[in-house]
Amino acid sequence: MDSLYLDCTLLHVDADGFFASVEQALDPALRGRPVVTGAERGIIAAASYEAKACGIGRSMQLHEARRLCPDLVVLPSDYESYSLYSRRLFEILRRFTPLVEEYSIDEAFADLSGCGELLERPLEEIAARLRHLVAAELGLTVSVGISLTKTLAKLCSKFRKPDGQTIVRREHLPFLLKRAPIAKVWGIGPASAMKLQSRGIATAYDFTRTDEAEIVRLLHKPGHETWRELRGRRVFPVELCARQRYDSMLKGHTFSPPSADPRIVFSEALRNLGAVLAKLRRHAHLARELGLSLRLKDYTCQNASARLPCPSCHDRDSTPVLRALFETLFSSGQTYRSTMVWLGELIAERQRQLDLFEDTPQRRACAELDRAVDRLNGRYGRNTIAPATLLDGKLKPFHPRDAAPRRYDALLPGERARHLAIPRLTLANPV
Ligand SMILES: [Mg+2]
Repeated sequence: MDSLYLDCTLLHVDADGFFASVEQALDPALRGRPVVTGAERGIIAAASYEAKACGIGRSMQLHEARRLCPDLVVLPSDYESYSLYSRRLFEILRRFTPLVEEYSIDEAFADLSGCGELLERPLEEIAARLRHLVAAELGLTVSVGISLTKTLAKLCSKFRKPDGQTIVRREHLPFLLKRAPIAKVWGIGPASAMKLQSRGIATAYDFTRTDEAEIVRLLHKPGHETWRELRGRRVFPVELCARQRYDSMLKGHTFSPPSADPRIVFSEALRNLGAVLAKLRRHAHLARELGLSLRLKDYTCQNASARLPCPSCHDRDSTPVLRALFETLFSSGQTYRSTMVWLGELIAERQRQLDLFEDTPQRRACAELDRAVDRLNGRYGRNTIAPATLLDGKLKPFHPRDAAPRRYDALLPGERARHLAIPRLTLANPV
């Protein structure tokens, strides 16, 4: 194997059953009970370990899960809480090292180079300390893996789950790799796994023992990179900058019951447009294309797209285009269950070509208005300020799936939907 990078300093942390665990951290009465989130879609987004023990998993239909576990607690997703907990989790990790990559809402990589010496502790203690801090401050459990590369660290964090830690140095790599089925390796998709399995490559160890030229022939560059990472050579760096370029963005929502009322369906589409435009502005991009997809009750889809008059991130430019697309697609007498809006051909705002004839003062005022609205919505919760047309959404009869997370009715003094005093109720709960 390569002799480069002998140091075992790559850490991966993964929160256990994250969304469901946040719900349990927020409401002590849910601890130890089977909890799932995703009530608003009818499909499970996350399951607590108690629910998993009943055979319940992600993407399962709710009615099927209820059949497996009659005591199941089903909650609507509360993404604001999840992102607040996520931010707190990454803040704790940054106390150990500034070299942190936020990989997803509940997973991060960190480079501990120098950290062991700095704190004069062995890696085992650092992992244990991280788990302890997260449990004490957030009421969550995490699994930690430390090894030579990102791919290996990710295998390690999966090795003892939930609430575990696994540290694998170079001399012990074969023990880890022999116990890892090839389909469980980060970066090996189902098609690649099948290809490898049909050649008798069943574990990560078999994979690393396969001839390099054969790997390149079978899986090309991405597979070869994974092969090198598994052999302990760092190929994937810890990415410290947030993603800076986007090609497209989309927002979709399924509503219950399905509706044939054009006012309701359009207000749903407009809500998606508002959300995706706010995201576009947050990431300082402009869109040149707008698309709308309407899904009928029988799950068939109708799509249409159009170019915006100019690259834009403002409601003013895109709402008339959305209206026109909607009128092309919507047919009365049909019943719809979801809408999705996407923005394509994105460019970074600073790359925008100025238009000689554009009405600059109006454009500036418009940008300022959007900024003010984004700020208010960021502070007080989504759609605190929104187009009046969204009120048409209220014409839709209430459905149990519309229920908002309970914590919105139970904010503690000084809290807002987007600002929770964490830990809220975790003090009295031994973790
Ligand atoms: Mg996780």
